[in-house]
Amino acid sequence: MPTTNFIDTATIWLHAGKGGDGAVSFHREKFVAAGGPDGGDGGRGGDILFQADDNLSTLMDFRYKRKYTADPGENGRGARQKGRDAADLVIRVPRGTVLKQAETGLVIADLSGDEPVVVARGGRGGWGNARFATPTRQIPRFAKPGLPGEDLHVTLELKVIADVGLIGFPNVGKSTLISTISAARPKIANYPFTTLTPVLGVVRVGEEQSFVCADIPGLIEGAAEGVGLGHDFLRHVGRCRLLLHVVDVSGSEGRDPEQDFVQINRELAGFSAELAARPQIVLGNKCDIAAPEQVEAFRAFIEGQGLTFLPISAATRQGIDKLPALVYERLQKLPPVKTFAPEYTRPDPAAAPKRPFTVTRTGEREFAVDAPWLERILAGTNVEDYESLQYFQTQLGDSGILDELVRQGVQEDDTIKIGEYEFDYVF
Ligand code: GDP
Ligand code: MG
Repeated sequence: MPTTNFIDTATIWLHAGKGGDGAVSFHREKFVAAGGPDGGDGGRGGDILFQADDNLSTLMDFRYKRKYTADPGENGRGARQKGRDAADLVIRVPRGTVLKQAETGLVIADLSGDEPVVVARGGRGGWGNARFATPTRQIPRFAKPGLPGEDLHVTLELKVIADVGLIGFPNVGKSTLISTISAARPKIANYPFTTLTPVLGVVRVGEEQSFVCADIPGLIEGAAEGVGLGHDFLRHVGRCRLLLHVVDVSGSEGRDPEQDFVQINRELAGFSAELAARPQIVLGNKCDIAAPEQVEAFRAFIEGQGLTFLPISAATRQGIDKLPALVYERLQKLPPVKTFAPEYTRPDPAAAPKRPFTVTRTGEREFAVDAPWLERILAGTNVEDYESLQYFQTQLGDSGILDELVRQGVQEDDTIKIGEYEFDYVF
């Protein structure tokens, strides 16, 4: 049995670019011992975008390269020079590729359209110390580091875009059918899995009317349980508005048409209830070599279930001429091709506690603040230096520590311990 090298899923890692660091720099001139702060901002880290590309038809490349990293922004430099923003990284995928967050399966984006989609954002560049300058005190020794870019673990799934999907056992004549109703020319042969990639064909109905039909490679028993090729291909009918269920009504391969029909529907249901509920038209193929009684018995079986039955022969074109109009008319009443709405919401960087802390009352007039990040800032703070101290105080305020102290009833002259440091609380 031939195996497939058609790849339609992959899992990759995205690392958007880190923002460049802001610079700490001081303007220097001859005869001027120390000039003003002039450190420039860091550049923005590169975003990672996805773009649908009709020249691609498989996700094969993503099996070989799994890690995608956008460039970091350039660091700021002296003389207020801003670091350059990094170029974005654009990843091209076959049209119809759906991106999901690997861990949760939540849909991030559906690359059905033409617009590129930003999937992972680069980090903002940090502020250079020139930003911290004030007219009175001009020696800020602080610059902000650039923010990290977003990291995402992403699953790619190719789901072709077609109005109509052909389903049925191998060898029932699906490829032959699509080649007779459209310009598509898939391989036709008398053995299973001749169709290894979904083949799309445009079926013309009139001057202006047409629809897209997909030849989905043959389902096999146990497909829904992931046995063999089934699962990969079932995925592709996921968007189709209507399924053309092709059955070999002649039983030419020693098969039973009724059993085949039931079996395929069971595979669909095992894969997804939604897919099993998709409308179907049943095509009894190979009528040219079937006995009229076989055709009529199968017709009674299908129509008994309230479904439309059409006897055809893809080989001799019997019944084929009516097919496009019948399908087109049915499509008019059906909802548009399914697109997958984004479900994943990007974590809000402002919501995440980047500067965690705990405030504990340790005595009548004493509080302890546990915040390792703040101790690191303190270690680099010259408490004699007004500018430095201001920065430290801003951090106390911005992080919410002051609010928490007030909430716990801090009063003037209470002692605040931060690591090894002690302060008096003053308004
Ligand atoms: P698929 O696996 O469902 O795509 O089936 P194919 O289109 O590859 O056809 C399988 C075999 O059945 C090929 O040998 C075709 O020539 C043959 N075949 C397809 N349609 C007809 C038909 O209407 N009548 C007859 N007699 N043979 C057919
Ligand atoms: Mg085929």
